[in-house]
Amino acid sequence: MAASMRAARLHEPGRPLRIDMVEIPEPRPRDVLVQVKACGIIPNMNAIFSGRLWNHLPPLPASVGLDAAGIIAKVGSHVTDVAVGDRVYVNPWLSCGMCPYCRAGEPMLCNAAAFQGYFGFFPHSVRQLTDYPFGGFSEYLTASPQRLVHLPQQVTFDQAARFGYLGTSFAALRLGEVSGGSWIAINGITGTLGAGATLLALGMGATRILGLGRNREVLEQLKALAPDRIEILALGDAPIADWIRQHTEQLGVDVLIDCSARSAAAANTAEAVAALKRGGTAINIGALTETLAIQPIRFMTARLQFRGSNWFTTGEGQLMAEMARVGALDLTKLVTRAYPLAKVNDALADVQKRPGGLVNIVVHPDD
Ligand SMILES: [Zn+2]
Repeated sequence: MAASMRAARLHEPGRPLRIDMVEIPEPRPRDVLVQVKACGIIPNMNAIFSGRLWNHLPPLPASVGLDAAGIIAKVGSHVTDVAVGDRVYVNPWLSCGMCPYCRAGEPMLCNAAAFQGYFGFFPHSVRQLTDYPFGGFSEYLTASPQRLVHLPQQVTFDQAARFGYLGTSFAALRLGEVSGGSWIAINGITGTLGAGATLLALGMGATRILGLGRNREVLEQLKALAPDRIEILALGDAPIADWIRQHTEQLGVDVLIDCSARSAAAANTAEAVAALKRGGTAINIGALTETLAIQPIRFMTARLQFRGSNWFTTGEGQLMAEMARVGALDLTKLVTRAYPLAKVNDALADVQKRPGGLVNIVVHPDD
């Protein structure tokens, strides 16, 4: 009889997860088995598990949990470059490898994209969720080796469990070509994405980081990360575009990272877009649903861009791990709140209070 493990499973949308005993999976020849040490929880998780959004949940009951980090426990017979005992982050992004986008080398556009342990983007994404049926709120999961970020000793499992939202911000900053001397604005800086973007932008060399948000306490915490490089504005305290220009010699910012939440006001984003420097880029990684008013003529005359970005590649995850190894990405600023597996629903309730900022809520499946 196969050995068993504990796994938090969603039986019914909108209902608490249940801790079930299930068989420990056997990795297929080209997969690995990971013993999960930490799995992150993100603000959107309760909304997804409610089943009320457009996302396609995996077949129920479903083992869930998005951002897992742990130790390789077993490798399939055809696996190279990773060994039992290696410390890894598992990128949950599942791309099929077969659709027109995947074959063109664009896995982030995959026609059957899904997040392991979370949801599928399309009805047929379920195939991939069935191939990798375990999420990070279980003691073990299987994954493919091409999705593993190899972790240096300097990155703890708790920190790596934040890689999903950090990576989303990182990919956006890279699209904006943020580098030494860049001036950027982050709308929604006090949220999980925004705080991560701040840590990364500091590591990438941005010299002026203008943060817009609501939570004054978190704004002050972020400002304290680098008082000479970060300026903060509580939304409502001043007109956004004027404030950005005041802090950029009237030129505006090279890059705007917009992390607005689903229910945020599009007017704030529009104001921040109006303060882009000539040639600047606005990149949306938030969930803003309200229609955004922009003036196309200015995008022509000032050569502006507005684009979206979703998630990140495993290669980008490896770059973050390397930045963290040398301290360029300072993950010690994250404030972890860890919950044992039995308290996974308490962890979900905690994230529902939207602490945001540098708070890092994780579940320890082996605890
Ligand atoms: Zn595909």
